[in-house]
Amino acid sequence: MQILKRDDSKLKDWSLEVECTGIGYDNKNKPCYSPLKLEDSDIVKLRQKESLGENASRHWLSYGFICCQCNCFTEIPGYIIPSAIRSYCPQIAPKGSEDYSRLSKKEKELSEEL
Ligand SMILES: [Zn+2]
Repeated sequence: MQILKRDDSKLKDWSLEVECTGIGYDNKNKPCYSPLKLEDSDIVKLRQKESLGENASRHWLSYGFICCQCNCFTEIPGYIIPSAIRSYCPQIAPKGSEDYSRLSKKEKELSEEL
């Protein structure tokens, strides 16, 4: 077996074209729907928590970006972000993360399967 060295230089070329939609996390800012091109340094992660009753809660990580124009957080599915970026991207503090009413029912179900 041979351990293959990961080529981090490829990450410098990584980019993703997205739209600012504000989907995935409720914040107080309104999304501007601008088309955006993200680089690895734009990705942030957010530790989310949902209370499941008296002593139980569920934690998970969300990935996304904060729009430079409207300051809105938009979530990106983790699987389309390279794992190296997921591990080193900065974590942002949850602000009212109990409230994720922007999630549609389907998105909520999907996030529960993680
Ligand atoms: Zn925006």
